[in-house]
Amino acid sequence: MQLWKTREDGEDELISTRESAVHPALRETDIQSFGSTLKSTGCDGCRLSHGGRSQVVVYRGNPEAKYMVAGEAPGAIEDACGLPFSGPAGRKLDAIIQSIGLDPNRDFYIGNIVKCRPIDHSGIKQNLTPTHECAIACRPFLHREIELLSPRVIICTGLTAARYLLDLPSKARMKDYSGTIHKHPSFPETEVLITYHPAAILHASSNPTLCNYIRNRIWNDVRMFQKRYVNEQPKREAVRAS
Ligand code: SF4
Repeated sequence: MQLWKTREDGEDELISTRESAVHPALRETDIQSFGSTLKSTGCDGCRLSHGGRSQVVVYRGNPEAKYMVAGEAPGAIEDACGLPFSGPAGRKLDAIIQSIGLDPNRDFYIGNIVKCRPIDHSGIKQNLTPTHECAIACRPFLHREIELLSPRVIICTGLTAARYLLDLPSKARMKDYSGTIHKHPSFPETEVLITYHPAAILHASSNPTLCNYIRNRIWNDVRMFQKRYVNEQPKREAVRAS
């Protein structure tokens, strides 16, 4: 675990590292206990532990689901209510999942690669992309989630999440990776399907051409997910029964 403080110039400084400390959530053996321990104990593993976070945000949905969604980090609404994908982007995500006949809270475990809200320290509490240090510091929690959930597939929304799930090169571009499927480097039984973050549709709303492009890419990726992971199940069950 690491301890950070904000200097007078606004920069964060690492002031202590306690290598031997293993967070108690990482010792839990089921995902509900993992989530509740992480939330109740809190975490000081990176600079996001101070300066703006209201709480650690772990997951919503079904802790026994076969499918997982991994986003980037909580925003203001998620930080306030404690549940990932609770704002406008979350409503888009839910609508996308419902469009293929699934229920986001029954069929999915929905979380983020970083569990605390990244903001700047200027007093303007805007959402930021998590830094490399924070994403790496939070990765043991993400890996424990994947280990305990053992999902068939993770739908990875956005390039930041993809970079830290799959160690993609820093120059990776979303348009090259959307719709691609990868084995998770640490959990080869789990596949990772990369698509755009639903917030990208909202951010592009003033540019109809871009907005339609992102919508179409997401829709193609979701149909691929449906064909490969949802429609395959009855066939597998029929084979097992015969
Ligand atoms: S982002 Fe992750 S590592 Fe950083 S304080 Fe929150 S839970 Fe701990």
